[in-house]
Amino acid sequence: MPITPLHYPVAWGLSKLNRRLNFPGLIVGSFIPDIEVPILILFFGGILPDHFILHSLIGALTIGTIISTLATIYLYPIIVSLIFRVDRAKLNEVCKLSPLLIISCMLGNTFHILLDFPMHPFNPILWPFVDPYEIVGILVLFLAVDGNIGIGFFNAKILTNLITGIITIAIIVRYRKNLAELVIRKNLISR
Ligand SMILES: [Zn+2]
Repeated sequence: MPITPLHYPVAWGLSKLNRRLNFPGLIVGSFIPDIEVPILILFFGGILPDHFILHSLIGALTIGTIISTLATIYLYPIIVSLIFRVDRAKLNEVCKLSPLLIISCMLGNTFHILLDFPMHPFNPILWPFVDPYEIVGILVLFLAVDGNIGIGFFNAKILTNLITGIITIAIIVRYRKNLAELVIRKNLISR
């Protein structure tokens, strides 16, 4: 995976493409699939892959979306008001339960696994219908030296993190004087 916060540019881009989407829902949705990684490593290391149910389309559209929706409603306003000093009442207003919030969480989760997909040597994206180990990311194959998937994975990881990292920094620099724009859209506040 790109480091989890580096999924942010995708949420940002989706919110620019369609301004009706709920930006906090997109952001939270784009982070949530990775919460399974430490749990899988800690409790199921060696038994299950470190990317599993939340990195499948079925898991992302059900469990991932439910967790993201709850996290956007109950956690996002608390965390963001503390770190970015955005008014808590405005955040609560934007993070209310709505069909658009649920759709945005769904999209965030889906695009997370789509971004992960090219750079992983295995992908549970179509689990339980296709064995995760049968789906090798296209970037891994492309960057494999002498057919070495391990090297391909390493190169794909570096390249993906580099690109998403540069875009994330560019967005932060662009809005450094108005940090609230990074976590909540003005057009959402005024609604
Ligand atoms: Zn991931």
